[in-house]
Formats: sequence, structure tokens, C-alpha cells
Amino acid sequence: MQCRLLRGLAGALFTLLCMGLLSLRYHSSLSPQGVQETPRLSPPSPLSRELRLQDVFIAVKTTRAFHRSRLELLLDTWVSRTREQTFVFTDSPDEGLQERLGSHLVVTNCSAEHSHPALSCKMAAEFDTFLASRLRWFCHVDDDNYVNPRALLKLLKAFPQTRDVYVGRPSLNRPIRASEPRPHNHTRLVQFWFATGGAGFCISRELALKMAPWASGSRFMETSALIRLPDDCTVGYIVECKLGGRLQPSPLFHSHLETLQLLGAAQLPEQVTLSYGVFEGKLNVIKLQGPFSPEDDPSRFRSLHCLLYPDTPWCPQLMAR
Ligand code: UDP
Ligand code: MN
Repeated sequence: MQCRLLRGLAGALFTLLCMGLLSLRYHSSLSPQGVQETPRLSPPSPLSRELRLQDVFIAVKTTRAFHRSRLELLLDTWVSRTREQTFVFTDSPDEGLQERLGSHLVVTNCSAEHSHPALSCKMAAEFDTFLASRLRWFCHVDDDNYVNPRALLKLLKAFPQTRDVYVGRPSLNRPIRASEPRPHNHTRLVQFWFATGGAGFCISRELALKMAPWASGSRFMETSALIRLPDDCTVGYIVECKLGGRLQPSPLFHSHLETLQLLGAAQLPEQVTLSYGVFEGKLNVIKLQGPFSPEDDPSRFRSLHCLLYPDTPWCPQLMAR
């Protein structure tokens, strides 16, 4: 009990210290991930004001190999509607991307591997850049996610703006178990829910600040290494096991681990995130008639974007009427 109280006090002190440091403006040299660009800071928005899309920070995780094949599709579609608050985290410089994204391309020093440390390194960079931004919500997505900004804003607006919120799609239908090393060679079995990173998830600023003692700077990678689980599990572990919070499950986030064909066309505009992928040699994509053919638009993201935003210049004119 006393230990808990002390930990709570230490956490609170740390959070206050972080807030103080951050309000002095975050400097990229503080980041062990070597984040080279930081977002332009706007004044913190008063919590009493209705939430706007500009208050939401969207982090996209990508890697060199997917700059052309995945990211350009996102930039042409949903990112074109969320440019101000979207930041792309990658592992390699890219002139073409830099030109399109400017300071919103964050080239980390994380390695270009699909390993737990490499992925956690990027999540840590996302988290630190969010804390420095002073925005009200942190949302993470992968580079094979479509984010519907309208649906995202609607979802986040429904939460009380001063609460600790962690919302996403539970990865499993039961909590995951992990073994947490304790002093004197002891371990403690812990279990917790986590939102699958491949479907995207969001965290309110209040909660993110409380997570800082386990998630900011080099700590995220240390926490991930401690429980020997990937980045998205680590987020769940910090929220549920360290802070006593709960994942708020939402069926509006989707990864390509589910059968995307099952979503009806009428439901598509309400979904916060969608995805695409290959499963057992077959494309796992949302079911959508045109306007583009599966050959021209295999992910269906371009067709979806025209359904949601028919005024987009490259969408067939018929849809704009
Ligand atoms: N990714 C990465 N480094 C890698 C491989 C993948 O940062 O070496 C990113 C990728 O850009 C994506 C996420 O990790 O945002 C998940 O990768 P992918 O969709 O290829 O795999 P999945 O886990 O969904 O099967
Ligand atoms: Mn994927």
C-alpha cells in the first residue's frame, strides 16, 4: 500500500516535472529517438472549448520500404484532410516525402526492422512528439490504416474532455498475460487489455501525461523490454497495470486481422479506421462498388475517400453532384 502511494507520488511529481519541462517548449535534442523535427506548437486549447480536429494529434508509423507503396496512398486520401495534425514517423530520410510533408515527416533514429525494439522506438517518438505538441488527443495508426477524420472527431467528442481515455479495438477477446520482473528475482503475473496497434487507438492528454513515467523518452523502450511485448501491448500495460486505467473498447477501429468484407457499405462512413491487407494469398479489403476498379484501387481507400469526400479533385465528377 505504502509502496503504491509512494509510486503514485513519484508518478505525480514526475508528471508535474514533465509538464513544466514541456511547457518550456520541447527540444528535439532531449529525445533519445533522435526526433529531428518537432511540430509547430500552438497555444494549448482550453478544455471548455468544443473539441476540433485541430486538437487531435495523429501519428502514422511507417518504414522506408512502405514510403511509396503505402504512404503515398494515405497522403492522397485521408491525410489530405488532416495535414495540420498528422505526423509521419519513419526510419529513413526521403526527399520526396519531405517535400510533401515538411516538418510533419519525423525521421527517427529507430532501426528499419520489424522487431519489438524498433517498433517500440517509433511509438516512443510518437508519444514524445505528441507530449511536446500540447494537443488534446494522441491517436496512433499504422500506414495501412484509413482514418476517417469526421468519425474520429465524433468519437472523441463523445468523451468527457477531462477524463483519462484509452480507446481502441481490443486485440484479443481476453486480457493478455505478461510476466513483470520484480525485485529480488521475483516475477509477477499481470494481465491487461490492449488496443491492437494495427487498428489504431487514441489516448487523451490527461492519461498520456500520467503515462509519461513509463512512456516518455527512453522509458517506453525500457518498459516494452521489461515485459518483452510489442509496442501496442506496452501501451495497454502502462494504462492498465501501472495506472489502473481501462481500455475503452470501440468497434469503430479496424485492422486487417478481421474480415473487412463483413462491413456493410452503409456502415463505412461511421468507422473511425479501416485497413487492408493480404490474408492467405487473398486481398482482405472493404467491400465497395467503385468508383475505382479493384485493379486501379486494390486497397479500396481511393474509392472510400471519394465516397466520404466527393469534392476531392481527383474523384470522378459524377460523385461530386
Ligand atoms: N513497420 C515498421 N518497420 C518494419 C515493418 C513494419 O515500422 O520493419 C510498420 C509498418 O509501416 C506498419 C506497422 O509497422 O505501420 C505494421 O506493419 P505491417 O502492416 O507490415 O505488419 P502487420 O503487423 O500489420 O502484419
Ligand atoms: Mn498491417
